[in-house]
Amino acid sequence: MIWYNITIGDVITLHLVWLLLMTSSMSQAHFHPHDHASCIASALASAERACDALGLKFTPVRRRTLEILVSEHRALGAYDILARLDASGFGSQPPVAYRALDFLTANGFAHKIEALNAYVACTHPGADHSPAFLICRVCGTVEEAEAAPDRGPLARAAREAGFAIERAVVEAQGLCPACKDPVT
Ligand SMILES: [Zn+2]
Ligand SMILES: [Zn+2]
Ligand SMILES: [Zn+2]
Repeated sequence: MIWYNITIGDVITLHLVWLLLMTSSMSQAHFHPHDHASCIASALASAERACDALGLKFTPVRRRTLEILVSEHRALGAYDILARLDASGFGSQPPVAYRALDFLTANGFAHKIEALNAYVACTHPGADHSPAFLICRVCGTVEEAEAAPDRGPLARAAREAGFAIERAVVEAQGLCPACKDPVT
């Protein structure tokens, strides 16, 4: 199913949203070759714009933490992130990483993957969304999709039970295209 979602800002942008049955998939761009340098640059630029608009401080450590996450497209644990922050001159004290990660997750620039106790950059920050994660168990690449908890079998079950879903996290583990069909 395809539908159009029109947001009115300075310009009207048109988003195509692709909905599958259980968890709809926004795109599998990160599972496929792409211009990763511009991917990193545009993620940082859009976070910077969002922080400006919301009056949030995009400090150097917050920026570097997001850059570390965006560079990977896979979930990184806090200590992995801390080691990279340390290498970038931000020090080796755990609160340095945790405070930056708290900022990024609280403001929608990154998500925590509970199953891995690790973090990924959000692929469409700013949008109010319920993420679903497709996690490759071999290479660790994470693709973010849209869970759409108000539709599908989970929503139906909740309705029948008289339950109001406020938050649903979908973390699917499996194999990405490259790990499923390795080139020999
Ligand atoms: Zn990329
Ligand atoms: Zn997200
Ligand atoms: Zn993989």
